[in-house]
Amino acid sequence: MDVNTCIQKLQYVGILTFATVDAEGNPQVRNISAVHYAADGIYFYTARGKNFCKELLADGRVQILALTKYKEMIRLSAVAHLVPDSEQEHYKDIIFAEQPYLTNVYPDDSREIGIIFCIKDGSVEYFNLGVRPIFRETYSYNGGALPPKKGFQITDNCIACGTCATGCPQQCIEEGDQYHIQEEHCLHCGRCYENCPAEAIIRY
Ligand code: SF4
Ligand code: SF4
Repeated sequence: MDVNTCIQKLQYVGILTFATVDAEGNPQVRNISAVHYAADGIYFYTARGKNFCKELLADGRVQILALTKYKEMIRLSAVAHLVPDSEQEHYKDIIFAEQPYLTNVYPDDSREIGIIFCIKDGSVEYFNLGVRPIFRETYSYNGGALPPKKGFQITDNCIACGTCATGCPQQCIEEGDQYHIQEEHCLHCGRCYENCPAEAIIRY
């Protein structure tokens, strides 16, 4: 897997879930399909009256989530920026040409109520629950910063009793003098963490 394939999968899924944060700090989520994928970023259209637009202008943080039919979860974390006025019409033309249903929603010149935002960079998490062991990886999108690590780590307090490996639902803990979690196959379920008799497992 790689970041470009993840972005292509977002495109194949088509209707994406976009989450933002409102002024009270509450999560807000909705589906968006008025999206154009370009080499320099992901462009999308929304109406200026919508709370979605208000939250993007005020905060900008956004997470985009898609689930493929193969049980692959793809999550893009980013900050959305308003596209300059000089480029607004250009991207509206492209998005309305790629998504003909939009002309039904915003016929004639009513599309002027819409506004184009762009995501230029961010990070992408890929999580595939359709294979065994499960597979996860995190990538930079267009040079964006990676998120803080998640999951669990076995420390040198490990007494090599094997309890964690036996109970791991994905069998992704390797034996050794100090046991080791294969992070790319870990569910982050926490079972090893809760059952280690030596409290040798820490949460990132
Ligand atoms: S359960 Fe704890 S002490 Fe036992 S092997 Fe796993 S990490 Fe090491
Ligand atoms: S968190 Fe769950 S999946 Fe990951 S190593 Fe521990 S028991 Fe296994």
